[in-house]
Amino acid sequence: RSAVEITTEALERINAVDEQVKSFLQVTADHALETAKKVDAKIAKNEEIGLLAGIPIGIKDNMCTTGIKTTCGSQILANFVPPYESTVTQKLKDAGAVMVGKTNLDEFAMGSSTENSGYQVTANPWDLSRVPGGSSGGSAAAVAASECVVSLGSDTGGSIRQPASLCGVVGLKPTYGLVSRYGLVAYASSLDQIGPFARNVEDAAILLGAIAGYDAKDSTSINTPIPDYTQFLKPSLEGLTVGVIDETFGEGLDPVVAKTVQDAIAHLKTLGAKVVNISCPRFRYGLPAYYIIAPSEASSNLARYDAVKYGIREDADTLIDMYTKTRAKGFGNEVKRRIMIGTYTLSAGYYDAYYLKAQKVRTLIKQDFDAGFEKVDVLVCPTSPTTAFKAGEKTSDPLSMYLSDLMTIPVNLAGLPGMSIPCGFDEQNLPIGLQLIGNVLEEGKLFQVAYAYE
Ligand code: GLN
Repeated sequence: RSAVEITTEALERINAVDEQVKSFLQVTADHALETAKKVDAKIAKNEEIGLLAGIPIGIKDNMCTTGIKTTCGSQILANFVPPYESTVTQKLKDAGAVMVGKTNLDEFAMGSSTENSGYQVTANPWDLSRVPGGSSGGSAAAVAASECVVSLGSDTGGSIRQPASLCGVVGLKPTYGLVSRYGLVAYASSLDQIGPFARNVEDAAILLGAIAGYDAKDSTSINTPIPDYTQFLKPSLEGLTVGVIDETFGEGLDPVVAKTVQDAIAHLKTLGAKVVNISCPRFRYGLPAYYIIAPSEASSNLARYDAVKYGIREDADTLIDMYTKTRAKGFGNEVKRRIMIGTYTLSAGYYDAYYLKAQKVRTLIKQDFDAGFEKVDVLVCPTSPTTAFKAGEKTSDPLSMYLSDLMTIPVNLAGLPGMSIPCGFDEQNLPIGLQLIGNVLEEGKLFQVAYAYE
């Protein structure tokens, strides 16, 4: 089939289901068809086409796209049209991918259910009364509902892996620095990382290969050769050691999730892996450390929304009033909460007690992982303590919402790659995810385990 036919199919699917799922903030139909036509023209002329030529893809709306509105799910950026392209979307363009739209997210990627979007609430395609997870809920739901073949999300504390788990798709957060953050609207810069969503492991491997690589425009970019990730897709796990993180099977874990994940781990054994137990005693301090570090960085990053450089502007008589009125109107409640927490934890007199201490805890968590990876190739645990919850169930209780990311957050703090793959269903037919965690730049091993399991 031609790229135009494939793109038209995706756009028709979006037309048919997105009124209910609400994955997309913006469908870029004209742009998509134009791109697809260019791919077909190249094919007709026998010219070289990229690896992703003609593939419909959804992009989380926190990645800048030249001439195409990028809102970050926030009303403060309701009219922001970036004058530049993020590195990842440029790479996708170069590979011939067809962006069909910008997907919904929790405002500035702060949330675990996509209910904090300043525009709409995305539904979980498996049960429309439930959330898709977050913050990349739009990207996860779009792939789960077949509105596009693959998509990109960003993951600061679990925002790719948790929605992948809740929507029954594959989601990968790469090693910090593997994928350029240039043009990704910053949330917590020392944790943010862009990664793929896909319906199978091979697609995720191909997409990661297309977006990874050194970028001089991102000062934290790693200069390392990018392997062909599909070379790791092998059926056997012979010679590989998998470590089960003991601490993740405690309190708060839904028993059905625990049982399903244990069964999945038992299956890894039958595929040839050696399975051992690993203790990460400081894993549970990840959540409190994260909720100091992430808001601290966010409060600083979000200072740029001053009504002058980007987005909406409220009229006022003085400059200070203009800042205050614009920020009061443009930011939602969760974003304001994070700015207040972060401003507090960074302030003179509290910095040592909170921010500095959280950074020390971060180092201890990394040391637990380092010790684990001296004994095993890949660590495993559940991705999320529960399956998809009902919309509205946790909106009035931020702490219970934060607990959704208990098992994904330590991975960001340590800068490691983490993947969620579907591993079964609960009694209500809601998907359950298995999380695979690798050592720095060992995405290949994650792909190997994920592919063999799949
Ligand atoms: N839910 C977490 C938060 O709200 C993680 C979000 C993310 O990974 N972007 O900060």
